[in-house]
Amino acid sequence: MQQGKHTVTDDFIPLHNGLGKEFKTVTAMIDIYCRAHHRTSTTCTECESLKHYANVRLDRCPYGESKPTCNRCPIHCYKQKEKAMMKAIMRFSGPRMLLHHPLLAIRHLIHERRKEVPAKPPKHRSNRYIRLQQQD
Ligand SMILES: [Zn+2]
Repeated sequence: MQQGKHTVTDDFIPLHNGLGKEFKTVTAMIDIYCRAHHRTSTTCTECESLKHYANVRLDRCPYGESKPTCNRCPIHCYKQKEKAMMKAIMRFSGPRMLLHHPLLAIRHLIHERRKEVPAKPPKHRSNRYIRLQQQD
């Protein structure tokens, strides 16, 4: 279903627990970056669509709840353009997160230091898989 250009604010795929927090962290970082660089009163269309992109990637992440932080993940699931955007955003907003969203930032840092990242994701753990199983 294709949404109109201006209806992109709240219709995200629901994510829970760790994935939900991860998505919150990503959207907060995008907001910080957008406010500083694109100077629109609300998040600009491009950044808003990046949130949706991240939302879908997280939904489909095969690691599901055991997902490592993106910079330690052996799977590179972002397309080049989105990856470049996200990299710039992380670099800018990462340090600023401590100030704006200390709890999310600290959680992310702790998560980043967890040791093992299984090279092969478990089966049937993505949010999307579980979500579709729960329908009907
Ligand atoms: Zn923007």
